[in-house]
Amino acid sequence: MSDLSDLYGEVILDHYKRPRNFKLLPDATHKAAGANPLCGDHIQVTLKLDGDKIADIGFMGNGCAISRAAASVMTQEILGKSRSEAEGLFRKYRAMVTREAGKPYEGEDLGKLAVFSGVAEFPVRVKCATLAWHAMEAALRGSGGTVSTE
Ligand code: ZN
Repeated sequence: MSDLSDLYGEVILDHYKRPRNFKLLPDATHKAAGANPLCGDHIQVTLKLDGDKIADIGFMGNGCAISRAAASVMTQEILGKSRSEAEGLFRKYRAMVTREAGKPYEGEDLGKLAVFSGVAEFPVRVKCATLAWHAMEAALRGSGGTVSTE
């Protein structure tokens, strides 16, 4: 994989054009924003926790196809999970997208998140693909505010 257009598979384009959970929760218990000045991506993540469980999640923001699709898929994947499950998923996802370029991904099956596996070939896109996740983690940790990739 060497052409950026190869990265934009069907799933990514679909989530970019029709992002899921594209809303801000009025009754959010946790929220944070993420900024990636290098690309101009800006994403707000809001969560509603019921005990330890992510009962609802929504995001809004502007950015490139990767940042938006990554945020959209993330909301689907962590909805209903516990806080530690969500953070654990982020660790595995980050390991996948930051692995050495040219190497196949050999980690555990990450389901739908695997569509972002090709991001590893484009280091500059890693920040786009992890922006919403960083914001989600900051929100869960209660640090709020805006996390920047720079
Ligand atoms: Zn971007």
